[in-house]
Amino acid sequence: MELAGKVVIVTGASRGIGSGIALSLAEAGARVVVNYRSSAEAAESLASSIDGRAVQADVSTTEGCEKLVQAALDMGPIYGLVNNAGITQDTLLMRMSDDQWDSVLRINAGSCFRMCRAVIPTLIRAREGAIVNIASISALRGNAGQANYAASKAAVVATTQSLSREVARRNVRVNAVAPGFISTDMTDALTDAQRKSATDAIPMRRIGLVSEVAPAVRFLMGPSASYITGQVLVVDGGLSV
Ligand code: NAP
Repeated sequence: MELAGKVVIVTGASRGIGSGIALSLAEAGARVVVNYRSSAEAAESLASSIDGRAVQADVSTTEGCEKLVQAALDMGPIYGLVNNAGITQDTLLMRMSDDQWDSVLRINAGSCFRMCRAVIPTLIRAREGAIVNIASISALRGNAGQANYAASKAAVVATTQSLSREVARRNVRVNAVAPGFISTDMTDALTDAQRKSATDAIPMRRIGLVSEVAPAVRFLMGPSASYITGQVLVVDGGLSV
């Protein structure tokens, strides 16, 4: 129960990796703000099964981020933030529309920036806190068909590193987790051929589980990582080796 009583926001926690992170942080004793955009039923059900509260907010907007932070403050002082909400709109770069580029950058990278900006004053004042941003191994090695997504996740990594330098003196830590292929709605969209070629490329020869990503976030959020900041922890079955 290393996070007992601490208020932690998890964006995009209604499904997939975010819901696994919310559960894992709740197991560590955290009071979790379960953010979602449209999956109200799933978010409410998760929040009611833990010490949590579901909050609808579109984190790609400044208003949505401010609303979410205010809802968290209503539960008590904020200790942590997990920027997990994200989307893909995959296609080859030569076919990519301006909107496909802009929307992926706005939701994946923009939400990380806006949520960090909204939450950081309260963490600095408390002189205690942790942020974990969900990046991707696409940020580190690129991926065909994902120029927009890889760029957005590279921005998440760069934001993590820059912000970690800005707030380290105030005892606020900022890290990232970079998953490889993890079984969620996002990867369910892959064709059988894409899934086979992905699996063949993974040294552990299987796609990862949400339950294998969440503990990395729990570790970086908690006191066991008290001297770790500005880092990217890769969880990918060896894919990026
Ligand atoms: P997912 O199953 O598609 O779930 C996405 C979550 O993000 C949902 O809870 C969704 O809410 C929320 N969301 C999307 N846009 C939002 C917005 N504007 N405001 C608030 N919430 C929003 O995705 P996932 O696979 O769990 O991915 C989670 C994170 O891990 C993403 O950042 C993704 O890039 C990253 N990641 C995933 C993989 C993978 O293989 N799955 C690999 C590397 C990195 P609603 O349910 O309300 O729509």
